[in-house]
Amino acid sequence: MTATILDGNALAQKLRADFKTRAEALAAKGTRPGLAVILVGEDPASAVYVRNKVAGCEKASFHSEKIVYPTDVAQDVVLAKIAELNADPKIHGILVQLPLPKHFDSDLVLDAIAPEKDVDGFHAENVGALMQDQPRFIPCTPYGVTKFFEEAGVNLKGAEAVVIGRSNIVGKPMAMLLLQAGATVTICHSQTKDLAFHTKRADVLVAAVGRPKFVTADMVKPGAVVIDVGINRLDDGKLCGDVDFDGVKEVAGAITPVPGGVGPMTITMLLANTLEAAERSAK
Ligand code: NAD
Repeated sequence: MTATILDGNALAQKLRADFKTRAEALAAKGTRPGLAVILVGEDPASAVYVRNKVAGCEKASFHSEKIVYPTDVAQDVVLAKIAELNADPKIHGILVQLPLPKHFDSDLVLDAIAPEKDVDGFHAENVGALMQDQPRFIPCTPYGVTKFFEEAGVNLKGAEAVVIGRSNIVGKPMAMLLLQAGATVTICHSQTKDLAFHTKRADVLVAAVGRPKFVTADMVKPGAVVIDVGINRLDDGKLCGDVDFDGVKEVAGAITPVPGGVGPMTITMLLANTLEAAERSAK
């Protein structure tokens, strides 16, 4: 069996066309969706992510602002900027690119963002709202993954879902969304004993580990839907996911590639959250 490839670029393009139309309709009524992105330091991967986020805004006719600080900037300077953006009516979404340098208290910085502008969904209030099944903003990467399930018509009710990874930005919110969709959810992590025992039971398997080709064909149930969140750079400079794509696609029913899978959907859902924030503020 060869799996159906879930094309993140195609899905992103389809959704973004709709967002552009909605953004233009909102702008015609006087509100142009606006996103501010704060980058601290010179991490090359973070710089690429920020550049792509700003470019995504421009293509969708959103207003965007990029604020860049050197690595040694004082936390208070960034907090003062966030306070300014919180009060700025042109800005509907604020994003602080993670990871922050070591002298920062990341939780404190994220919680300084006004919850109604927290388009990453990392503010404690928004994390709580998601837990209570009343999400204001769903974190972009797991939100994007849910769009693959919708697009492919994956029935999550009663499905066995296994998430590998328990980070605040991917694993935990992903597990919560699968739970809310009716799946029976197992979260695996670095201390899980016999990982393959769990993954082999999964009708839906989400890998968010950060290890190249970590999930191999023998760990996957035939016909499973496999979502690869991982982005790893190999020694030859190429990107690869957490899933051994060539092997697993022969076993799985559907699979996301890397690149061209979850990555483009993450930025797309950032646009979705910013648009939703702007639409709410215009009401
Ligand atoms: P993280 O480092 O915060 O979390 C990794 C998780 O993997 C941890 O919870 C850890 O317990 C688990 N893990 C580590 N070793 C394991 C093992 N041997 N067995 C089982 N579990 C193990 O990473 P993250 O921020 O959640 O990101 C995970 C991956 O997803 C990374 O490659 C990251 O670059 C990528 N990512 C991609 C996007 C996207 O847009 N596609 C967005 C965010 C993160």
